[in-house]
Amino acid sequence: SLDMCRMHRVLEVDKKSLIARIQPGVYGPHMEEQLEAEGVTLGHFPDSFVHSTLGGWVATRSAGMQSDKYGKIEDMVISLRMVTPSGTIITRTVPKSSNGIDIKHLCIGSEGILGVITEVVVQVHHKPEKEDWYGWLFPDFKSGLDAIHECHRGDCMPTVTRLNDPKKTALSFAFKHPKTGIKDKIAKAFKWYIGNVKKIDFNQCCLMVVKYEGTPQAFNRIKNRVTAIYKKHRGVCLGAEPGRSFAKVKFDFPHLRDYVMDRSIMADVSETATTWDNLRTLHESGLADVEQAIKDTGVDAWVGCHLSHSYRTGASLYFTFGCLQREGREIEQYLYVKKAAEDAFMKNGGTLSHHHAVGTEHLPWVEEDLSPTGLKAVKALKAGLDPNDIMNPGKIIPSEKPLDDWGLSAEAIDEFQSRS
Ligand SMILES: Cc1cc2nc3c(=O)[nH]c(=O)nc-3n(C[C@H](O)[C@H](O)[C@H](O)COP(=O)(O)OP(=O)(O)OC[C@H]3O[C@@H](n4cnc5c(N)ncnc54)[C@H](O)[C@@H]3O)c2cc1C
Repeated sequence: SLDMCRMHRVLEVDKKSLIARIQPGVYGPHMEEQLEAEGVTLGHFPDSFVHSTLGGWVATRSAGMQSDKYGKIEDMVISLRMVTPSGTIITRTVPKSSNGIDIKHLCIGSEGILGVITEVVVQVHHKPEKEDWYGWLFPDFKSGLDAIHECHRGDCMPTVTRLNDPKKTALSFAFKHPKTGIKDKIAKAFKWYIGNVKKIDFNQCCLMVVKYEGTPQAFNRIKNRVTAIYKKHRGVCLGAEPGRSFAKVKFDFPHLRDYVMDRSIMADVSETATTWDNLRTLHESGLADVEQAIKDTGVDAWVGCHLSHSYRTGASLYFTFGCLQREGREIEQYLYVKKAAEDAFMKNGGTLSHHHAVGTEHLPWVEEDLSPTGLKAVKALKAGLDPNDIMNPGKIIPSEKPLDDWGLSAEAIDEFQSRS
């Protein structure tokens, strides 16, 4: 493999055009430190921010938690340089172009199969003067979704909007620090008010975490507009604490997966995106299918979902699942459950991934997602730029029998299914 770590510098910041030329091996925190010294930010904060690089984000079409304001990484790239076995692609640093097929976007998301991205020019933003986090509670997932959808239609999205479904809400509250003394009494009284006056059912309620930012005036303007919309959808503001608590651990929580995996608990995520029209069907089908698949493997299931990237046309759904591992069959069990999630996405008008890319894990669904001719175009590009298949072989382009290569045999599928 290729270590890009020493290409870690922000080379230039153009404060008039608000763009920065950056080397791709830089890790998130080091890049933001260098940008902050110039008073700007990229605004890209994936959960993996601490351990991932600009080049990796561009190569996988990554999404950060502030995507509602700043976009996905592909929206931020102005130009790039990519070294391929057939030569170097250099795109022009211009805001937009009509120069035929968009080569820049063929490089973005190429996951290293065409070449190595060696420089990226990105759009940057002035650091906001004011920012803060808040928590809201909605009676159910639908009312939270409706509130987000209305914010999009009204062009007033906060910088971060993260809506947990009931299962994920219960998980978030399980991590709450216990209160003592007067704070405990106030919290209990507020809980009584939410349950008895606001008539919110604690088994169905959904926690939403939001972040606003901007100049003090812009901060207040968006906060007031969003508050009015949330209240219309029966949202109850929980104050700043739930949001600030989330902000403190936001880059730590996802790493629990590897910790629990070492202790015989299988845990992972599968995420997708679909249109507003399909969102609730996909949510329900995703939960049901993953839960059933886990039960097929002979153990109890925990499945939850959250939404943290949304658009005028739809949103991403991020499923988290966990269960006890079947000793000796851990990989088969995992692949069987993962397959159920991806099949549910395909069946319900989703995509194989909104921001985790293809790698090898999502190979079995590439052809269905892109269409057979779409895949032919990817193969032609690969053959043209990397005729000897030396760049990241085995990624993005599936073999003839992707499920077999994946390690999930037809026998294992039959055996698990026969339990249901
Ligand atoms: C706990 C956890 C949380 C995560 N949270 C998020 C999240 O919130 N949002 C999100 O989008 N993703 C998330 N991810 C997925 C992953 O971290 C991102 O996709 C990230 O963009 C990968 O960057 P990296 O530097 O780690 O790349 P790597 O993992 O090293 O590489 C990823 C792919 O990109 C290619 N690549 C890397 N650098 C280059 C380059 N310079 N030129 C060409 N190809 C290159 C590699 O060959 C590989 O195919 C998460 C992953 C984990 C484990």
